[in-house]
Amino acid sequence: PVGLIWFRRDLRLADNAALYHALQQCEKLYCVFVFDDSILGGLPQADRRVEFICQSLTELDQALRSAAGRPEAGLITRRGLPQHIIPALAQQLDAAAVFCNDDDEPSALARDAQVERSLQSQGQLLLRFKDHRIFARDEVLTQSLSPFSVFTPYKNAWLRKITPFYLSSYPSERDLRTKLADRPEAERRPIPTAAELGFAPGTLNGLRLPTGIGGARRLLADFLPRLPQYKTARDYPALKGPSYLSVHLRFGTVSIRELARIAHESMQREDWDAQAREAAATWLSELIWRDFYFQILAHHPHVVERSFKPAYDAIAWETGPEAEALFAAWCEGRTGYPLVDAAMRQLSSSGYMHNRLRMVAASFLVKDLGIDWRRGEAWFAEQLNDFDLAANNGGWQWAASTGCDAQPWFRIFNPVTQSQKFDPEGRFIARYVPEVARLAPGLRHAPWLARPLELAEAGISLGHSYPYPVVEHAAAREKTLARYGILKPKS
Ligand code: FAD
Repeated sequence: PVGLIWFRRDLRLADNAALYHALQQCEKLYCVFVFDDSILGGLPQADRRVEFICQSLTELDQALRSAAGRPEAGLITRRGLPQHIIPALAQQLDAAAVFCNDDDEPSALARDAQVERSLQSQGQLLLRFKDHRIFARDEVLTQSLSPFSVFTPYKNAWLRKITPFYLSSYPSERDLRTKLADRPEAERRPIPTAAELGFAPGTLNGLRLPTGIGGARRLLADFLPRLPQYKTARDYPALKGPSYLSVHLRFGTVSIRELARIAHESMQREDWDAQAREAAATWLSELIWRDFYFQILAHHPHVVERSFKPAYDAIAWETGPEAEALFAAWCEGRTGYPLVDAAMRQLSSSGYMHNRLRMVAASFLVKDLGIDWRRGEAWFAEQLNDFDLAANNGGWQWAASTGCDAQPWFRIFNPVTQSQKFDPEGRFIARYVPEVARLAPGLRHAPWLARPLELAEAGISLGHSYPYPVVEHAAAREKTLARYGILKPKS
């Protein structure tokens, strides 16, 4: 039979579940990627992720042609609605089945259900496989077979269940030479660029963010020698601590099985000392958070719109012109709190934000400015290269205390203390907030506490060259405690 592989968030050939199964079951395979108008339509005019996808698809296309040994056997790309395109293409190519990797996001489930119905009405199948997480929604459950809503017991159950079976790679590159079919003449077009898709130039090419399968390999190779220090380095944004692989996990240019296997094996390496093994365990734990939030979204799709804990929907957030002005100051990195501003500027200039700073910046919006976490979630969704609905929503609900296993609502990050603790020399601040870079390191956390002479020597005119804090933390904290206080009797 003939098969059609529909690539989505799995832009690689190695260790790809759908590709592996298609190779097992079909004699002849076509490959397609659809630029989905319902997604593209909601993106900003210039979007680094579209550029990332186009460049990664170009590499995937080349990988397909070289695996087949023929330029005719590359990737078919189309633009429109997959609900129309996939069934029509499957019919045109006379495919018995469309193979893809599954996706539990509510909009993806609805789309896939529609595609499946159309295919079925034509006598064709949609076959979906687990690929981008280690355990699917129902694979790690409590003893009473319900989903976990607290991370640590979920993680413990995850670790009890893990075996080499779940971590081993699919040999999905075998037989490509003989099975990849030549594309019909009309489909032998180069991969479109972001400009050809109607996007304004974004900043991806100015960043040092390698794209595609090759880019993921480079980042991984760069990270592995640093893995033994991960536990200590990961919390300091001025250091090169984490892997920076999130965008590659998002688009599937690297396999989660490969990463989790490396982490799991490293945890047990006898040639590593206890500290290095612990670092590997910590990194694995982060990868488990990713699985955790995927299963939360799958079991509780209401989190897309509402609080995980319904009582928290009663919280009254700040609205009106003053709140709008504060929200704009937060987005643009001019709150007067240098670490928050540095974080927000890192986000808008690079599309990345360090994990510690995501927590600090999110907490600041919700608990210092009193603004609805959904506004911040939406801003991150627009800006983050690695934006993933499940992790972003989980992170925001954690920070807002509205989520599963969230930060208790009465624990409120102090943006200055966080700054002193996690950017002690103000190096990260200096990188993104040059206005305060000439202050002595210890003063960069809270310039308003500097003496007039110190400010003058550093060339700072507060309120002009750099803002005064938009809110006073201690007062904001009291307001937040009162705001959340309505929950007290129930929580
Ligand atoms: P590493 O430290 O190298 O971690 C390895 C991988 O583990 C990451 O690539 C990521 O896939 C996963 N991971 C790490 N921490 C988490 C976590 N807390 N939750 C889920 N997965 C995690 N991550 C996203 O991938 N997309 C998002 O849209 C996203 N939004 C977030 C929003 C907020 C408010 C917060 C607090 C966190 C968010 N995170 C998100 C989680 C985390 O900040 C990023 O995954 C991490 O900073 C990515 O950098 P890295 O690849 O260098 O991470």
